[in-house]
Amino acid sequence: MGVPPPSGSWGSVTVAGLGVSGISAARALAGLGAAVTVVDGGDGERQRESAKALEQEGIAVRLGDGTTLPEGTELVVTSPGWKPDSPLFAAAAKAGVDVVGDVEIAWRLRGPDSAPWLAVTGTNGKTTTVQMLASILSAAGLRTAAVGNIGTPIIDVVLSGEPYDVLAVELSSYQLHWAPSVRAHSAAVLNLAPDHLDWHGSMQAYAADKGRIYEGNKVACVYNADDPATEELVRAADVEEGCRAIGFTLGTPAPSQLGVVEGILVDRAFVQDRYNSAQELAEVSDVQPPAPHNIANALAAAALARAFGVEPAAVRDGLRAFRPDAHRIAHVADVDGIAYVDDSKATNTHATEASLASFEHIVWIAGGLAKGATFDDLVAKSASRLRGAVLIGADRALIREALARHAPEVPVVDLDRTDTGAMAAAVGEAARLARPGDTVLLAPACASMDMFVNYGKRGEAFAEAVRDLEAGTGGGQEQAQGR
Ligand code: ADP
Repeated sequence: MGVPPPSGSWGSVTVAGLGVSGISAARALAGLGAAVTVVDGGDGERQRESAKALEQEGIAVRLGDGTTLPEGTELVVTSPGWKPDSPLFAAAAKAGVDVVGDVEIAWRLRGPDSAPWLAVTGTNGKTTTVQMLASILSAAGLRTAAVGNIGTPIIDVVLSGEPYDVLAVELSSYQLHWAPSVRAHSAAVLNLAPDHLDWHGSMQAYAADKGRIYEGNKVACVYNADDPATEELVRAADVEEGCRAIGFTLGTPAPSQLGVVEGILVDRAFVQDRYNSAQELAEVSDVQPPAPHNIANALAAAALARAFGVEPAAVRDGLRAFRPDAHRIAHVADVDGIAYVDDSKATNTHATEASLASFEHIVWIAGGLAKGATFDDLVAKSASRLRGAVLIGADRALIREALARHAPEVPVVDLDRTDTGAMAAAVGEAARLARPGDTVLLAPACASMDMFVNYGKRGEAFAEAVRDLEAGTGGGQEQAQGR
């Protein structure tokens, strides 16, 4: 584990945000002797409960004011939800106080013998890729964990004392923004499309934060050869001497790339003679689901593992053992020859484009909170696959208008309701539009919070409606009334 700085050297730390990562940071820093104050603009029941627990441990908590910097603060540790332009950070800058995130703290807590990091970012596919990577590393007999923007807070993992050989680290653009000194063994940017622009302020700022992941890489900067913006980021990065740029592509790989040849994932980067030979890693059918974007994720995971010296057989075994998390192109059931697929995690247009590209004839269930997105490009690219569309949620009109512009022949059902029964109605309408052999696909291209607690609950509502349909209890009548 890391050798923590001497007790007390952390001084007075203000933690911004009383969420999962803030609580973990507060406890860890207090445990290391820091005088910690957690601030949060909220003052609800949830916050009060968490505050009470922390106060009992000697951690100060200030609720209802997330903007003033507590007197004597020497370091601010922020949580992912806080925007860079939050007044608290302006106050910190004015006082000459550093602002960092939990990932930066975890990095500073590492010692010279700590496990190296294989890091992954991208607009979509991070969690899947990190889990694939951890599965491959485990198959190679390495002690590892998937951490970062996933599972156990990263500070807790670093402080756990577990003797890891290597960590598979998911890093969001927010985390990268606040983690200036992280230096990965190797890192991958999977893809780059507009997302979270309200947080970063511009596409340029978003890309720059993603690109931070390559800074100081030691062995490999893995980029998506089919997404030139990711290669640009490699070019802009300052890496260690001898660090290589390794591409991955769904096509035939060039030297120093991984790619796909006749249904086989092959490596032309980490082989003896990359100009004349290639190493077979796995078959496309070893990857679940074998959708194109997911093969790209598998190639990125394989590239990072190979950069760490993992043998080809372990790449294959690790990919075979991997199962995607729920709500990511999850096949729910076949009913009357129609497949029902839950990709509730497709909360932006980039993920939805990948999802729609994975099936041939689709009745598409979409809508929710658009987060400032536009849908013309997505609809224009996917129109030929659409048998029909069923729209739900607050911003559904934006998708309806894009469909009218780019796919006027596609039948659209606009469900004018946002109550909890709306998903059952949507599934009923989709079933009516679909023909045997089609896929009814929930890939909303929007966030879920207008109708559901989160994307997981949205996916569960979909699955439940499909099971009712399967059991013959799905309510067609109810839907008609609801429109
Ligand atoms: P993240 O952690 O980046 O949010 P996930 O692995 O949880 O990524 O997947 C999020 C969504 O993006 C899912 O809907 C999934 O089907 C889709 N997706 C996964 N990988 C990719 C990819 N490489 N390109 C585009 N979309 C993807």
